[in-house]
Amino acid sequence: MSDQIVLRHVTKKFTTKTLGDIIAVDDFNLNVEEGECFSFLGPSGCGKSTTLRMIAGFEDLTEGEIELCGRLVSSRKKNLYVLPEDRGLGMVFQAFAVWPHMNVFENVAFPLRIQKVNKTDINRRVAEALHHTSLTGLENTFPGDLSGGQQQRIALARAIVTNPKVMLLDEPLSNLDPKLRETMRFEIKALQRKFNFTIIFVTHDQSEAMAISDRMMVCDMGKIMQIDTPENLYNRPCNRFVHNFLGESTFINVEIRDGKAFPKGSADQALPLTLPPQASREMVVATRPNEIALTGPDEDGYQTHIEKRIFLTDRTEYLVPVGGQLLKVQTPHRIAFSEGEKCSVHLVEPMWYPADDAEADKERARRQLV
Ligand code: ATP
Repeated sequence: MSDQIVLRHVTKKFTTKTLGDIIAVDDFNLNVEEGECFSFLGPSGCGKSTTLRMIAGFEDLTEGEIELCGRLVSSRKKNLYVLPEDRGLGMVFQAFAVWPHMNVFENVAFPLRIQKVNKTDINRRVAEALHHTSLTGLENTFPGDLSGGQQQRIALARAIVTNPKVMLLDEPLSNLDPKLRETMRFEIKALQRKFNFTIIFVTHDQSEAMAISDRMMVCDMGKIMQIDTPENLYNRPCNRFVHNFLGESTFINVEIRDGKAFPKGSADQALPLTLPPQASREMVVATRPNEIALTGPDEDGYQTHIEKRIFLTDRTEYLVPVGGQLLKVQTPHRIAFSEGEKCSVHLVEPMWYPADDAEADKERARRQLV
């Protein structure tokens, strides 16, 4: 497998009147392999769209360079910038709606007309693209008469008609209802298998990214936090931010004293846990609500009681005091405790992180992302 998209030290700085300098993308280094489905994931303002726009060629770089299919397309040092239409990319952007004044055929044929492809080939290639997106028979229909899902298929057909090696998808499913989103996800993967293109998929929907991706990049405030498979990101998040962003998390702030972890607000009872090798004085113990075991009072767990019980459709949620904090625990319905009942909490292989990052919180506030 060769690298099809390479970013080296890619940086983008915006200077704004109200917020001052914003490093939207800070020294991104990234290799996406041929045929891979790679997602950019992160909260609003983390730099996903800016990165995608630089790959597409809609935005120049402040620093660094980008290579697509072995060809340098953007380089600040070499003052090189290849126009978007010459980068050989397929794109489906949320903002790039289909053109309402053109029928389905003309929408899909448009990129081929720009490339001055002959009429016979246009007819053949549009027919193929419509076939693969289940739009055959709708050639003369105008987008306004079609459903949201069908309109998104037009955008997909228009993207695949040029047979691109790389497909950039920016929140392509965000206007669709949940059921249709799921269907379209499968359709995108099926198209990828058929045409073997590389996908960069931008979303802030973590379950969508996990379902579709071979690997994902999680970023925050212009910085790459972690790049890995969905499974590794979920099971081995590198920091508290990634832990919190992927799946449900619960955190316990602890103080380390005498080789033990005391939850803040709990002077005399420590969590029955082995400390990590380099424990600092204040740390955060992180776990998932459904990975915490609750049992009756026993010697092995943290002794507490059920503060609140909430019956959800597929599980029961308990709020359990741990020191001065409330821990969220989710169990199958068959594990039943009542409010006020005594219980033990068992944390199964939790992760340990440094205590809150005050610097990150300050920068988030400056960017008005709180
Ligand atoms: P969203 O999910 O909301 O689309 P995002 O992760 O795609 O967010 P970007 O749109 O890449 O984030 O924005 C990253 C940062 O750069 C933000 O702080 C944003 O305000 C800033 N930014 C983006 N485009 C511009 C611009 N043209 N001028 C000034 N600042 C910008």
